[in-house]
Amino acid sequence: MEKKIAVIGGGAAGYFAAIRAKELHPQCSVSILEASQKTLAKVRISGGGRCNVTNAGFDARRLSEFYPRGARELRGAFSRFAMEDTVEWFRKRGVPLKEEGDKRMFPVSNSSETVVRCLKEAASTAGVETLLNHKVIGLEQRGGVLVLSLRGKKDQRCDRVVFATGGIRSQAELFMNLGHTVVALAPSLFTFQITHPLLEGLSGVSFPRAVLTLMSSKDAQGKPYRMKRRGPLLITHWGVSGPAVIQLSAFAARELYRDNYSAVLRVQFDEALDHTQCIEALLALKQNHPKRLVRENPFSSYPKSLWEKVLSFCEIPERSRYAECSHKELKRVARCLTEVELPVSGKGVFKEEFVTCGGISLAEIDFRTMKSKILPSISFAGEVLDIDGITGGFNFQAAWTTGYIAGDNIIN
Ligand SMILES: Cc1cc2nc3c(=O)[nH]c(=O)nc-3n(C[C@H](O)[C@H](O)[C@H](O)COP(=O)(O)OP(=O)(O)OC[C@H]3O[C@@H](n4cnc5c(N)ncnc54)[C@H](O)[C@@H]3O)c2cc1C
Repeated sequence: MEKKIAVIGGGAAGYFAAIRAKELHPQCSVSILEASQKTLAKVRISGGGRCNVTNAGFDARRLSEFYPRGARELRGAFSRFAMEDTVEWFRKRGVPLKEEGDKRMFPVSNSSETVVRCLKEAASTAGVETLLNHKVIGLEQRGGVLVLSLRGKKDQRCDRVVFATGGIRSQAELFMNLGHTVVALAPSLFTFQITHPLLEGLSGVSFPRAVLTLMSSKDAQGKPYRMKRRGPLLITHWGVSGPAVIQLSAFAARELYRDNYSAVLRVQFDEALDHTQCIEALLALKQNHPKRLVRENPFSSYPKSLWEKVLSFCEIPERSRYAECSHKELKRVARCLTEVELPVSGKGVFKEEFVTCGGISLAEIDFRTMKSKILPSISFAGEVLDIDGITGGFNFQAAWTTGYIAGDNIIN
């Protein structure tokens, strides 16, 4: 019997769900109902206009490193549709992907427009109908049928619904009315605002192997936390950015939101030199080269700008020689380079990628089918769920995977 399938939301997850459902069940009518005037808006702007489609470093055993929320639930889902399947899906439809040095995967064309066009063509070839300016504001089950309420339009009846509406924001009530729990929302993937004399004038300086520890500040509200990440750190005009910072923002998204983005960031500028090693190296310089000017003879591979800044911050006079520096002063310098504590006072923008954490509670979803355990004729896919990944293609991968599985199981 022909069924009527409505996919709510024309983003990455919605397109994957609709295309898979229609390809599997050509006799069914499949429509994408999109609230705005255009579909795939986020795909278009993603990855700085290049769309970071997925990540080649994907490893099912290490999911918790990539997904602060949803790692456990996604394990089974990725055994059904994973990164390789995404690569193959796009390749078969004329969009080959390439891997970059950091394992992020982009279309060979370097243009998100290719991905948008591919998804639209696949939907239209399969026979998916796309309805723009169709904002769903409610859903009711009447008898065996689902009835969708639309803003300014007539109700629509259907047999199956996939919600792929992205970050929930103002729509929590719609889902709560269906009996679902909406886990509180919070932004993820952002930079840190920090004002500290040590960072002044260092904007643009980067540290490829930093060790960062994010901790609750003294006036934090709830349970204290402490999270560590290694990786590139970039000093910006307003604070710090770079992969290690963005990852911390994802893993501590809830705590930072709770504490109004107030926290402490401990920085070791080079992972090769911890506090003890740094003091030993400075004392060795003092012993072996007492006549050398401290300012002109940094050790290790610290950028000159940081070294000079640290010496000024530690009030080491400009013409000091190593012999003139006390142990106490050198220890202070070492502390600054390896465990300086910077006050995080807010969040900044990370233009390449942004997601919200929170959404439909994962306990209420059957991840073998993406169906609601509360109302099995509806399914969920993409960012509407309480799933989010770190930057690098993991968020789209979650959308492709959950969208595909939702479409695959829509009639079962
Ligand atoms: C600037 C930016 C860059 C990004 N870059 C990347 C990247 O390179 N790689 C990566 O992995 N991730 C990236 N992301 C994250 C990624 O875009 C999201 O994870 C992904 O788009 C989620 O897909 P989705 O289909 O679940 O939701 P969305 O893409 O948000 O789509 C949801 C759609 O549903 C529609 N909608 C919402 N409510 C209703 C309603 N009630 N009725 C009808 N329609 C509705 C919306 O208008 C929207 O079109 C980026 C995000 C941003 C903001």
